[in-house]
Amino acid sequence: MKSPNQSLRIRTRLILTFGLSALLITSGISVLTYFLVRGNLIENRNQSALSVASVNARQAERRIFEGATDKAVRDFLSNLRGVRAESTPVLRLETDWISADPVVFAAPDSIDAKLLEVVNTSPLDGAKMKYRMGNGTPVLVIGFPLATRNALYFEATPLDDIEDTLDSLANILMLVSGGVFIFGIALGMWSSRRVLFPVEEVGQTARAIAVGDLSARLDVGNDPDLEMLASTFNQMADTLEKRIEADAKFASNVSHELRSPLTTIMASIEVLNGNAASLDENSKLALDLLNEDLERFKQLVEDLLEISRYDVGANALTLERFLIVEFLERLTEQRSSGAMSINFPFEINDILIEADKRRLARVLSNLLDNADHYAGGATHIEVRADEDTLILSVIDNGPGITQADRSSIFERFARGAEGSRRGSGTGTGLGLSLVTEHVKLHGGSVEVTSANSNGSGSRFTVTLPGVIK
Ligand code: ADP
Repeated sequence: MKSPNQSLRIRTRLILTFGLSALLITSGISVLTYFLVRGNLIENRNQSALSVASVNARQAERRIFEGATDKAVRDFLSNLRGVRAESTPVLRLETDWISADPVVFAAPDSIDAKLLEVVNTSPLDGAKMKYRMGNGTPVLVIGFPLATRNALYFEATPLDDIEDTLDSLANILMLVSGGVFIFGIALGMWSSRRVLFPVEEVGQTARAIAVGDLSARLDVGNDPDLEMLASTFNQMADTLEKRIEADAKFASNVSHELRSPLTTIMASIEVLNGNAASLDENSKLALDLLNEDLERFKQLVEDLLEISRYDVGANALTLERFLIVEFLERLTEQRSSGAMSINFPFEINDILIEADKRRLARVLSNLLDNADHYAGGATHIEVRADEDTLILSVIDNGPGITQADRSSIFERFARGAEGSRRGSGTGTGLGLSLVTEHVKLHGGSVEVTSANSNGSGSRFTVTLPGVIK
């Protein structure tokens, strides 16, 4: 079973690995940085606030003697300097509360009940507590009991500056993490391209070999990690090229060698045919069978010879310029099945094409022969031109060709449904593959579709460059 991870492309996996690793590392570092800075800022603030409050409390102890008026006390409190300008001293004298700035820190409402209790009952070294006031401001409140007038001294220092600093730090760290994540993705894309480049090169070269460029090879380069892959691949391609060349030569040699005995046999058969009247019935029957098979054998040898010339690259075009309509009319008139209608727009009359006449004649004869064999003959030929491309279609009203057979019938020795139905006696299965080779040599292509909308009939369309305007 495929795991979800396996279904991702290697490139995507590499990019994700880079991006997520970068994100993980920067997030880790960011969280660590945040908590270290936070701990440090709070600890510093605690210590400095505690020591300043302690000094202020001792000073208050000295200044708040029995006779001091409330106004004198308030003035004194207002003049005390806390750890921040916003720090507010607060005093409880017996039951009265005096705050240096009741708007900022209203006593006793803003003093946490628990802190009040601890300071009220604790020894002289004081107590501190961090909490949020009713309006949401975070404060650090430090309290000391004083040895005079049953007094308690509190100093409230807002912590919003630390909170703001930490918020800014968190934003910066998040931005940096996002940036590093994007950088990781970009790095992943760059390195995956580099890492996968050799794989792509192997793919491209293999594709080139698959479509017939047997000389395609990989650049071995000087990376020891890839050198072995590249040289092994090239060795494999060398072996394949040699094997294919040897096979092609073999087929070419065999068909060549078969030609001379075949010519002798054909000549001898001709002699026998001439004397057929003097033969007894059995010999006549044997002669007829021999004539039939020999014709097919001759065709096979000729086709094999022609096709093997393509394989060894020994085929070259002999280009001529000629009027296409005239050429088609002549070709169809010469056929035993007789002339047929050639449909074309008026301007095609004067169109010249530059092509190999012999090969083009073979292409059309093959298509027309096939229509005769498998489809009761071609109904017509259509010709049109598109810029410098000539489009020729041979149309019949036969049984048509199934979707599955439409590409395979162009392969060597492939006989589609109709060919198989009529048995081995009618063809060799090389006709359409030769058509493809002839057309390909011109830089063109051939395909088959159905002629009618109900799927019956065939339309073989040959597209050839070389229209001269
Ligand atoms: P062959 O005619 O020797 O079998 P081809 O390569 O010329 O070889 O044709 C391959 C197959 O394509 C035929 O066997 C036949 O099944 C199919 N075919 C070709 N032309 C037609 C056509 N006009 N109508 C139906 N089938 C066709």
